Amino acid sequence: MLQIQRLHDIYRPVDERRQDYREVERTLSPEEVRRQMQRCHNCGIPFCHGSGCPLGNAVPDVNAAAATDDWTTAYRILSQTSFFPEFTCRVCPALCEAACCCSVTEEAVMVRQCEKRVIEMAFERGLVQPVLPYVRNGKTIGVIGSGPSGLFVAEGLNRAGFTVTVYEANHRPGGLLRYGIPDFKLDKAVVDRRIALMEQEGIRFETDTRVGKDISAAYLLRRHDAMVLAIGTTAPRDLQIPGRELHGIHFALEFLQGQNRVNNGELATLPVNAKGKDVLVIGGGDTGSDCMGTAFRQGAASVRQVEIMPRPPEARPASTPWPSWPWILRTSSSHLEGGAREWNVASDRFVGSDGAVCGVEVHQVQWEYGADGRPTKPVVVEGSGRVIRTDLVLLAMGFTGVAHDGLVEELQLKQTPRTALMGDASRHVYVTGDCANGATLVVRAMADAKRVVQNIIHDLG
Ligand SMILES: Cc1cc2nc3c(=O)[nH]c(=O)nc-3n(C[C@H](O)[C@H](O)[C@H](O)COP(=O)(O)OP(=O)(O)OC[C@H]3O[C@@H](n4cnc5c(N)ncnc54)[C@H](O)[C@@H]3O)c2cc1C
Repeated sequence: MLQIQRLHDIYRPVDERRQDYREVERTLSPEEVRRQMQRCHNCGIPFCHGSGCPLGNAVPDVNAAAATDDWTTAYRILSQTSFFPEFTCRVCPALCEAACCCSVTEEAVMVRQCEKRVIEMAFERGLVQPVLPYVRNGKTIGVIGSGPSGLFVAEGLNRAGFTVTVYEANHRPGGLLRYGIPDFKLDKAVVDRRIALMEQEGIRFETDTRVGKDISAAYLLRRHDAMVLAIGTTAPRDLQIPGRELHGIHFALEFLQGQNRVNNGELATLPVNAKGKDVLVIGGGDTGSDCMGTAFRQGAASVRQVEIMPRPPEARPASTPWPSWPWILRTSSSHLEGGAREWNVASDRFVGSDGAVCGVEVHQVQWEYGADGRPTKPVVVEGSGRVIRTDLVLLAMGFTGVAHDGLVEELQLKQTPRTALMGDASRHVYVTGDCANGATLVVRAMADAKRVVQNIIHDLG
């Protein structure tokens, strides 16, 4: 049995944090983090490193160095596998922790908060400096999209000597880090700090530039030796049930981006405002929980999140054995702030009054399970129909693929049956991140970008 227990008290008080958009996590004291780092066994075969972290962060080595206050070594080890630990240490669900050897019998080591301490100490001590290539190789790359995968590709190729320009449709770089993930999870000053470093390294950002509309992909292919599409998966999954045309039904990202843009001064008023409203979030995932947290801060009268899938188990089921990423109930900081959560709820139709939504007719389902313990088929529970009262519905049911707004059509890129884009190495067109793999996580988008950096160095270097 470990003598030091995992720390659970990591958030600012609910009453305080619901009043602002500052990061919800409190700054742990140096002693608290040191004790958590000491829980790390420095295992002979560290599954957190080899199996959990898509970037391959050498977690035990980082922890061992940091536990002795050797921040230079800890940062040096961390920065060998990750260019941007300041993002993952704030938003990553920590796949490494699910693979931590301690978690077989006890609670996992608190890897994410330890990573945060290492990278923030590195910034504080001036260890994070622009990294310039020893020599430029004369080749230029156009990266389209500045989310985590685009930024990671740009950084990797710049370090390898390529001259990189990042084209971004939005007003500022960052992708979903800036226009999606709420400020209370990731302070945008953290994104700005990294972009400033990248600019000092010689990476150019051309924002307010939608490739395929403002400039053509053909022009970029002439201008650069290779092009990387890191355009994300922005097409949201819709809920086409009767009443969809009513006012007051919005996609989650429209709602979340509006708040991001008001916070950063790009917009004066919220395009979708939850103030005083009974908010219904349809979709039980992380985006839905971000909507809940944002709705609380906007002053919603009530917030409810419904999900058609069943409530996941509290403990790791046999279908997702250690060290895989488990299918378990996840309770975010936003869930801890209030509101209601329901599972097994299917939506039948939006109910309207004077052209605006005033409710959603739903029914309960019961799931049939496969041999592996995973839900396979929903069965209607007879007589369970009811109407949930709401005047603001937020659709947070995931994303169906890339936006078809000119670029993909112009390049005539193939797509997999699941709508992921495929690159075309013969034309030196590469794809990475969510657009190549489907909507996933910041850490996976960055790990995929690492692969593309290697491919381009191999093909053009
Ligand atoms: C609300 C929300 C919350 C999330 N929270 C988390 C979290 O807490 N932790 C986590 O790990 N993951 C989270 N994710 C997932 C994560 O944000 C994504 O997996 C990740 O951002 C994908 O990175 P990317 O670089 O592939 O694409 P994106 O971040 O989507 O960036 C794509 C960029 O390409 C730009 N672009 C698109 N088309 C063009 C064009 N034609 N020309 C120029 N630019 C273009 C877009 O404007 C955008 O800036 C969240 C996702 C959402 C939607």
